[in-house]
Amino acid sequence: MLKDYGGVLAREFRGDIYVPVSVQDCTNLLLEAHTKDRLTYRGAGHSMHGRSIPVAQNQLLVTSSLNQVSFCKDGFISVQAGVQIGVLQAFLNRLGWFLPIFPDAIHAGPTVAGYFLAGGFGSQSPQYGGFWDNVESITCILPGQSAAMEIHRSNDFFWNLSGSGGLINCFIFELKLFIKPYETSSIYPIGFTASLPTLQSDSSNPIIWFTLFTPLVNQNLLLRKYRGALSALSSVLQLVSPRRVIIKYLCRYPSLLAEFSDDLLAFSIGGRLSRNTLDSAISACQIIHALASSMASCVQYYSSELVLETLAKQRSH
Ligand SMILES: Cc1cc2nc3c(=O)[nH]c(=O)nc-3n(C[C@H](O)[C@H](O)[C@H](O)COP(=O)(O)OP(=O)(O)OC[C@H]3O[C@@H](n4cnc5c(N)ncnc54)[C@H](O)[C@@H]3O)c2cc1C
Repeated sequence: MLKDYGGVLAREFRGDIYVPVSVQDCTNLLLEAHTKDRLTYRGAGHSMHGRSIPVAQNQLLVTSSLNQVSFCKDGFISVQAGVQIGVLQAFLNRLGWFLPIFPDAIHAGPTVAGYFLAGGFGSQSPQYGGFWDNVESITCILPGQSAAMEIHRSNDFFWNLSGSGGLINCFIFELKLFIKPYETSSIYPIGFTASLPTLQSDSSNPIIWFTLFTPLVNQNLLLRKYRGALSALSSVLQLVSPRRVIIKYLCRYPSLLAEFSDDLLAFSIGGRLSRNTLDSAISACQIIHALASSMASCVQYYSSELVLETLAKQRSH
């Protein structure tokens, strides 16, 4: 049985699972994909929308073997899609460098590609913006295309993919990331390549999360709305403290946030489902949806989270 992090969406899967041994192996698989059934891609499975769980006729491509990091030029690294962001951060720290943006709550979990597609903020976001501000380019391939392409951050497609949560069928091999030294004397190990281990992340006590983005100036309004929804929310969720992250606006936001050009508040509401049923998850989605819709400038991170339509489909099966 394959699940996503929240444990709400799960599916029995008996199809083929590919763990490519090289980028070339992966390219061959993707080149054949237009004549085969569609592939489903899975990083660490930390997102909640169920898009990393294949339907019966699909094949599953797991990225855990794409685990290399290379130091290409001063201040940049090339990182393969399946490297877990917490593992990467720990590795860089030992060399005197750090990733500016990093999801603080889930150290071992998400992969770099997953974080680009379905995450993007952390406690350093008030200073360094979103993960999108710290990626120079991605190397990706569309199924059936004959070659991978490098998409620079100046390309609109980069911004469409960032935060799209896997809604666009495009496989990411590699990301070029900006890194920072702890001290100006930190030596950049140019030419050094390493394979990083994959750690099992703990999803034994799953929490479901919803994130709402709103301009920072709306912070108090959103907090009032949240308090107003607390009693309904606590009837379906054992709530944990909401998380507030300020995201500095640097130059551009991913397309899902394109309406904003100011610093944002990312407000994450989550908890354990009181009764582990689809109905509780549906109620939680409805309450969050109503909360988001009651504010003029508020965008929910739909592409990364549980959505009503998917849950309704699961119920009808
Ligand atoms: C407890 C918890 C706390 C969290 N806290 C934060 C936080 O503080 N900040 C934050 O920004 N986010 C947070 N998140 C969200 C988290 O960042 C995302 O769920 C995560 O980044 C997804 O990464 P993944 O490797 O697990 O991707 P998956 O869930 O495996 O995949 C996500 C989507 O991307 C697709 N995909 C995966 N890899 C590739 C690839 N190589 N090419 C193309 N498509 C691919 C999948 O098909 C799927 O649709 C949190 C999530 C949880 C569960």
